[in-house]
Amino acid sequence: MILVTGLNTYLTLRLAEPLHRGLGQAGIHVISRVLGLVLLALAVPFVLNGLAAAGIVGGALASYDDAAGVARRSLRRRGAAGVGKRGLRHSSRRRRTRHPRRARETPRESLRGGRPRARGADLKTGISNSSCRHSSSEMRAVVAGICRRLGKVYGPVEPPEQWPVLDELIATVLSQNTSDANSSAGYEELRRRFRDWDEVRRASPERIAGAIRQAGLANRKAPRIKAILQRVFEDRGELSLEFLRGLPARRAEEYLARFPGVGPKTVACVLLFACRKPVLPVDTHVHRLAQRIGLIGKRTSAERAHEELARLVPPKRVLEFHLQLIRHGRTVCGARKPQCPDCPLLDLCREGRRRLVAGELADSPS
Ligand code: SF4
Repeated sequence: MILVTGLNTYLTLRLAEPLHRGLGQAGIHVISRVLGLVLLALAVPFVLNGLAAAGIVGGALASYDDAAGVARRSLRRRGAAGVGKRGLRHSSRRRRTRHPRRARETPRESLRGGRPRARGADLKTGISNSSCRHSSSEMRAVVAGICRRLGKVYGPVEPPEQWPVLDELIATVLSQNTSDANSSAGYEELRRRFRDWDEVRRASPERIAGAIRQAGLANRKAPRIKAILQRVFEDRGELSLEFLRGLPARRAEEYLARFPGVGPKTVACVLLFACRKPVLPVDTHVHRLAQRIGLIGKRTSAERAHEELARLVPPKRVLEFHLQLIRHGRTVCGARKPQCPDCPLLDLCREGRRRLVAGELADSPS
C-alpha cells in the first residue's frame, strides 16, 4: 500500500508537466480520477480489516468469508463430479476405494438381467431399496426373512410322510407336468392294478400306461417307469433304493440322475422327501418366486436355479423354504396375477417393487 502510494506521488510529480502539455487540463483530470479510485479500492480492505480487528464489523466479514468458502466448496464438488478427464478418474477411484463391495456387485447384477435401481425409487415408495443389489450374505438374510414371514402367515410347515425311496421316485416321475391331484390318482391306480413293483417291471408299457392314464403323458411316463425298475433290479438285485439313505447327498444325486426321465427336480424331491437330505427341489412355484423376488436372475433356468439356490438356502431351511414358497405361489404369487399389495414379501421382492414404482399395483386384485 505504501509502495503504491509512493509510486503514485512520484509519477504525479514527474509526469505532471509533460502530461499537462500533452493531454491538457481535461486529460489530467481523468487520470487523477482513475488513480484516486485505484487507491480507494486498495484502501478499503485495509480499513475493513482494521475495523474487524476492533470488533466493529466482524459479522459482515464473516459473511464474506462464508460466501467465499461456499464458492470454493462448490468448485471442489464440480471437480469431484468429473469436470474434465482428471476429475472423472479421481471420482471413480474414490468410489471404488470407499465401496469395494458395491463395485463388485454391479457386474453380477447385470449378468442376472437385473435393472439398475430407479433413481429415488425409495423416495417415491417409502420402501427400502436395500435388497436391489443383494450380496450372497444379504440374499441368505432375505431367505431367512422369507421363511420367517411366510411362517407367520401360513404357519409352520408339516414335513410330509416319508415313503420308501423307490415309491417316492415313481410317484415323482408321475407328478411331472401335471397337478398333484392327477398324479396322486395315477399313482393310486398303478398300485391298485399291480401287486408290487416287480409286476410293474415285467408288465408291458401299454399296460402300465393304461394304469397311469390320469397322471397325463402316460405313453411317455410308462416306458420310463418300466426302465427305472429294470435298471434298479439289474443294479441292486432287488427293487429297493433304501441304500440311498446312507449315501452322501452328492453321490445319491449322481446315482438317481442316471435314470431316464429323472432331472434335478425329481432327484431333489426324492432326496428331500424320502431321504430327508437337504437338496432343494425347484418346482414351478419355487422357480417363479425366486425369479420375482430376485434370488436368481429373471432368465435363470430351473436347472441352473437348483445350483444357485443351493448356495443361498441353508440345509436346515431347505424343506421349510420349499414348502412355504409353494404355499405362497399357490395363494398369493400366482403365475398370472400376483397379488403384490397383499404380499408380506413386497419390500423384499424385486418384481413387487418394480410394479409398485411403475404404478401397476392399482390394477392387481386384492
Ligand atoms: S411382491 Fe408380488 S411378485 Fe413379489 S412375491 Fe409378493 S406377490 Fe409375488
